[in-house]
Parts: sequence; C-alpha cells; structure tokens
Amino acid sequence: MHGFDYSRPASVSDALRAMVSLGTAKSRFLAGGTTLVDLMKLDVETPDHVIDITGIDELRACDVSGARELTFGALANMSEVAEDPFVRESYPALSEALWRAASQQLRNMATIGGNLVQRTRCAYFRSTAYPCNKRVPGSGCSAIQGINRGHAVLGVSDACIAVYPGDLAVALLAFDAVVDTMSPRGARSIPLGDFHLEPRSTPHEETVLCADELIVRVRVPVTKVGKGSTYVKVRDRESYAFALTSAAAAVDIAEGVVRDARIALGGVATRPWRAREAEQSLIGSALTDETARRAGELAFEGALTKPMNAFKVPLGINTIVEALMIARQRA
Ligand code: FAD
Ligand code: SF4
Repeated sequence: MHGFDYSRPASVSDALRAMVSLGTAKSRFLAGGTTLVDLMKLDVETPDHVIDITGIDELRACDVSGARELTFGALANMSEVAEDPFVRESYPALSEALWRAASQQLRNMATIGGNLVQRTRCAYFRSTAYPCNKRVPGSGCSAIQGINRGHAVLGVSDACIAVYPGDLAVALLAFDAVVDTMSPRGARSIPLGDFHLEPRSTPHEETVLCADELIVRVRVPVTKVGKGSTYVKVRDRESYAFALTSAAAAVDIAEGVVRDARIALGGVATRPWRAREAEQSLIGSALTDETARRAGELAFEGALTKPMNAFKVPLGINTIVEALMIARQRA
C-alpha cells in the first residue's frame, strides 16, 4: 500500500482549504472508506494525502419534513436513511435501494455522498495486472474481449463497458434528485441525471464532480410518485451482491390510468440509466402486464450485448415488469 498522510478538518471550508493546499492530483476525500480504502489496498488508488471529512458535522443533517423536498447530508450513513420511517413509507424505492446494497456492516459505515461516487467493480479495473482504460487512460480494455458477464449493455463505448455498480443513485435518478456541492469556486447544484458520465473515449472521467469539489447534500423533490415506488434488484445471491439487473419504478395512477411513470435501471448500464421512452409509453394507459412488458422492451432497444452478458436484456425486461407491478400495487 502506498504511504499517505492524513488530516481531519472540522468544517467544509477547512476541507476545501486542505484540498487546495495539498493539491488535487494526489489528494482524496475520505468518508466511510468502504470504497477508497479498498482501492488503496489494491494500489488502484494511490493518494499521498487523505482528507477525512467525517469530522464535519454540517454534512450529516437530514430533513424529511419539508413540503417541497427531502434532504440527505453527504455524511448520512446508508443504514440511517434506509431505516428512516418516513422514507420507508413514502419513498420505498429509496429505502429498498439502500437496504438491498452491500451488507449491514458496510451500510453502517458507508455514506450517501461516497455511495454516489463509488467506482466500478470491473475486476480488471481492480487489478493492476491488466490493461484498463479507466485506471490507466489509453492502456486498453481487458473486459471487451475478456470475462464480461457482469458488464454493461447500455451506454457502452469502444473504450469501456464497465457497469455503474451503485443502487442508491438509480432510485435517486427516478426521483429527479439534485446533488449540492461546494468547491473553492463556490456552491453548485447538479441534477443527478447530469452527474454521472458515460465512458465514451474518456472512461476515467466518471462524474462531473471536480477533484476539489465536495458533495454537501442530496435533495429529492417531493413527488406524488414517491409512495407508488419500488426498487427491484436481481443478483447472483440474495444478499451482499451487486446487481446483475435492477429497476427503480414509480407510478402515479388515477382512475386506472398512469399519470406519471419513472423507470431507472442499474446493473445494466455504464451510468445510472433513466428509461424515458419506456416511461412515456406508459402515460395515459392502464398499467398491465402487456404495457409493462412493452415499456421493458423499449428500455433495452439500444442494448449492445456480448455473448456472456446478453442474458441481461431478457432479465432486465423482466425486472422492469416486476418493479412496475409492485409500484402499481403501492400506487
Ligand atoms: P468512501 O470509500 O469514503 O469514498 C468513496 C469515494 O467517494 C472516494 O473517491 C471519496 O474521495 C469520494 N467521496 C466520499 N464522500 C465524498 C463527498 N462528500 N464529496 C466528494 N467525494 C466524496 N454499493 C451499492 O450501491 N450496492 C451494493 O450492493 C454494494 N455492495 C458492496 C459490497 C462490498 C463488499 C463493498 C466493499 C462495497 C459495496 N458497495 C455497494 C459500495 C458501498 O456502498 C460504497 O463503498 C459506499 O457507499 C461508499 O461510501 P463511503 O462513505 O464508504 O465512501
Ligand atoms: Fe477498465 Fe472499463 Fe474495460 Fe473494465 S470495462 S477493463 S473498467 S476499461
């Protein structure tokens, strides 16, 4: 493991000052450490300076009492948000995305902010023995001709087919969440739909977050589709595994007709994936097995598969159908 020094600022401004003075190239913010420390042990991340943000109390606050939005501090841990009674009752997709992620021990440590910027689980990325464009730009992609059963079928490029691994961002995307950040240049608010990047020719650029920019909170607009929502996750084992396919679905139904529909996908794309055409196909109709299946097919229309991961298309369609049926029941 590469040696590093460590600091623990007590405020956002101190953390940003530390990042500026130490230099962004070799400095990293540390939250729960469940991704960063893992990657440091593998020598995939080799920072000289680790700036531990867990002493910044202002990043912990959550508020679900507002009439217009829910707010979750970047340092709120995954367990705390998953188990919040209001979130469970009124935004079940958010709660389910969280408690179906990782393990209880990890969820107790891992934070909302860190979860959004977790890195891919592509095995070639996590081993310095293989070429990987995401880890070493321009070195090649070992997965395209290699073992790619878990890899993406949507949003892929010739340079990278790694799946975005997280669950929470998929549910947040369905609810049009916004990420608030702070950097030496000031505050900004980034719609979650603009936060993660497709790999294109620069797979090492995964989000629009700058190296000196701190996630402060995530905001979720209050919406009628909150209650009629779910997060369905299909994986190799029923606990402690990343998604092969997942779907966050949310619907508002009045007099048997869909008024609003949201579908976001995980486990199948290079970024959290919103299936807008699929959503549109549902609006104004009854939600039935047939209309749900049609929406699922539309969601995967542009899929680019490999022999090993082609199963994700039918599985992904079935995942969407199941999620929509649960959402219908709750709506
Ligand atoms: P850290 O490891 O501290 O940081 C991760 C990255 O985010 C670092 O680059 C860090 O610099 C940056 N960062 C952290 N906080 C901020 C901030 N406020 N602003 C800017 N940058 C920041 N996740 C799932 O969604 N689903 C799963 O099924 C799942 N399974 C897992 C299984 C295992 C075995 C492990 C180890 C992890 C799993 N995870 C899963 C990932 C886990 O949820 C993430 O590791 C965790 O959410 C990251 O949060 P953290 O606070 O520990 O981040
Ligand atoms: Fe690297 Fe992406 Fe290829 Fe995996 S899929 S080896 S992360 S370039």
